[in-house]
Amino acid sequence: MEFLLTLRRRGIADQAVLRAMDEVPRAVFVADEFSAAAHEDRALPIACGQTISQPYVVAYMTEKLGVARDNRVLEVGTGSGYQAAVLSRLAGEVVSIERYRTLAEAARARLAKLGYDNVEIVVGDGLAGWPERAPYDRIMVTAAAERMPETLVDQLAEGGVMLLPLGPQGGTQHIVKLTKTSTGLSREDLIPVRFVPLLPGQAREL
Ligand code: SAH
Repeated sequence: MEFLLTLRRRGIADQAVLRAMDEVPRAVFVADEFSAAAHEDRALPIACGQTISQPYVVAYMTEKLGVARDNRVLEVGTGSGYQAAVLSRLAGEVVSIERYRTLAEAARARLAKLGYDNVEIVVGDGLAGWPERAPYDRIMVTAAAERMPETLVDQLAEGGVMLLPLGPQGGTQHIVKLTKTSTGLSREDLIPVRFVPLLPGQAREL
């Protein structure tokens, strides 16, 4: 309850997004040692030196993405699988790419345990997108890019929306909302954030 109140107080108003945030048990996506903190509004460490985003940022990006029931959504940066789980409660199908096999496998196991069967987790370089299932109605990148990943823009459907943290590594990035229309792209810069970097290539470490 406190969890949802915090999100509401910070301005998350979309009922479907709040319902999805309520439904997905964040504790399942963090290490046991952090389960007590799972419902606090803060980012937490996960394996491979990565982080699970702050719930507010997950809710905010999900709300701004504007996901519909029949949408196919691509996420880049599976991490724990939490954001993918939230998206799966709103979308028709979700494809999520992770460059660490270890993280991808753990995320897959969590989603299977929860019975969220409309998510496909793939191991690879998210900068290449996932052409097999393109185009996507919605794309969410959850690692910070220094410049616009054009390959992902290409995999966005007409009328599609992409959200990504854009800006210098280690500095302040902004969530950028890109909308593709028949006449081109429109860009809106949203809140300042700090994400782990979007790195090229599949991770060599397991
Ligand atoms: N959305 C995640 C948190 C993302 S942390 C969650 O809900 O838990 C960012 C993730 O992006 C990390 O797991 C990192 O390994 C991954 N990542 C970074 N660069 C990537 C790339 N090029 N392709 C795929 N995944 C990438």
